[in-house]
Amino acid sequence: MEEEVYDVIIIGAGPAGLTAGIYTIRANLKTIIFSGKSPPRITLAHKIENYPGFIESISGNELLDRMEKQTKALGAIIRDEDVISTYLDSDEKMVSTKNKVYKSKVVIIATGMGPRRKTLVGEENFVGRGLSYCATCDGPLYRGKKVILMGNDEETGEEALELLGMGVDVSIYTNGKEFEVEESLINQIKERGIKIDMNSKIKEVFGTQSVKGIILDNDEKVESDGVFIVYTIPSSMLLQNSGLKLTEDNRLDVNNQMETNINGVYAAGDIVCEVKQISTAVGTGAIAAQNAIKYIRGLK
Ligand SMILES: Cc1cc2nc3c(=O)[nH]c(=O)nc-3n(C[C@H](O)[C@H](O)[C@H](O)COP(=O)(O)OP(=O)(O)OC[C@H]3O[C@@H](n4cnc5c(N)ncnc54)[C@H](O)[C@@H]3O)c2cc1C
Repeated sequence: MEEEVYDVIIIGAGPAGLTAGIYTIRANLKTIIFSGKSPPRITLAHKIENYPGFIESISGNELLDRMEKQTKALGAIIRDEDVISTYLDSDEKMVSTKNKVYKSKVVIIATGMGPRRKTLVGEENFVGRGLSYCATCDGPLYRGKKVILMGNDEETGEEALELLGMGVDVSIYTNGKEFEVEESLINQIKERGIKIDMNSKIKEVFGTQSVKGIILDNDEKVESDGVFIVYTIPSSMLLQNSGLKLTEDNRLDVNNQMETNINGVYAAGDIVCEVKQISTAVGTGAIAAQNAIKYIRGLK
């Protein structure tokens, strides 16, 4: 198989990966960034109002486009390929895509969050029959109907407002978890009359041909016409068997220098952060890159 050799390989071209790239390229390190086939989560953010520098809000797509243009203008190679395996243990790191093997001194992992996951008993029986993972796609089918939206993050908040805007009667269930969203978004949700339940745990989806509601862990039934699930898992599938240490909730375990347990391997962004925001992705991307640069200089 064909091979290419770099100083730095960055897996992921969202805010974390692109920021890391800006730093390593400016440090004159030969860098390749893999953008993967699935769009970064930032592209799901319609209106960003909490990232510094934009007095008017900016869409996730436009902000990403600006970051990409800046990184490319500095000379970055951004390749639209999924990394399918990693070999990280030795000094020379290796990652492979479908067509090629890439070698480097350093790998920075910035793969963000992965696809939505199965969470509830019975979920698989109702996909497409009242159970959905996408408000934008399926919301209009529930106009005038009652929907339970399950999740506890920014995306849940935005999806709730989107569903409401489509004329859906939506309630949020965080499944007993904290609702990890900015105060201003919570206030908007409450002002618009959307109910938020942070106490109940959901055990099961029930129904016959289609969803009829959920069963809570105290066996209480809550009726609804649809259940939308927002929970995601970090995209750490790629990292299984890589030797990298994960946290209990499947984030990559890093120290405050964004070093993983393997020498020369760093990580940044949603895959490591508890607070999953563009500012934390950018910040951790910069820290990871600065330490990667020091590591490579130490090798010389
Ligand atoms: C609806 C919504 C609204 C949001 N609103 C805001 C907001 O207003 N303000 C804010 O600060 N944050 C917001 N966020 C959060 C923000 O988008 C994320 O925190 C941020 O995008 C994380 O950046 P990242 O670089 O870690 O990951 P991502 O942006 O997800 O990028 C990860 C990249 O890795 C790539 N990748 C994954 N696996 C592979 C692989 N195997 N090979 C190659 N590439 C791979 C993906 O294709 C992607 O390009 C929002 C998120 C959502 C979903």
